[in-house]
Amino acid sequence: MIAFTVPHALVVATQWLIAYGVVLWLAVAWAVVRDAMRRSSQYWFYAIALVLGLLPPFLGAIIYWIIRPSSTRVEQETQALEQTMLREAGGPQCPTCSTPVHEDFLLCPVCRTRLARACRSCAKPVDVDWKVCPYCETPVEEAGSKKESAAGTV
Ligand SMILES: [Zn+2]
Ligand SMILES: [Zn+2]
Repeated sequence: MIAFTVPHALVVATQWLIAYGVVLWLAVAWAVVRDAMRRSSQYWFYAIALVLGLLPPFLGAIIYWIIRPSSTRVEQETQALEQTMLREAGGPQCPTCSTPVHEDFLLCPVCRTRLARACRSCAKPVDVDWKVCPYCETPVEEAGSKKESAAGTV
């Protein structure tokens, strides 16, 4: 039998370490809830964020970080406003899914419909049915499957 007494300093150090861990844990949970508030206006989402922030300690915060919405509310509102402005301005739309697009888009960002090609000389967007680039007078070659893939790798 070996009499084993834990040194007092070690006990104090362990207590401090536990206290430190608990404070850090609560801070992480609070940060998760704050982040959830920036990204959503749904109370159920705050509740999920709180539970994930607390349980399991630290791992839940990582899970939240993976599943959280990619954009904040401010970003979502800005995007929605941009879409509305484009629609109201009667700007160009994708012929397939009618998403508002910019005139210099080469592909529809939603359904990948080809809207224009890049000029092989000046790289400006050239409409699919144009025969010559209006910027640099370079003739636009007919779109073939080979040309498409070659342009895609540039
Ligand atoms: Zn589209
Ligand atoms: Zn050109």
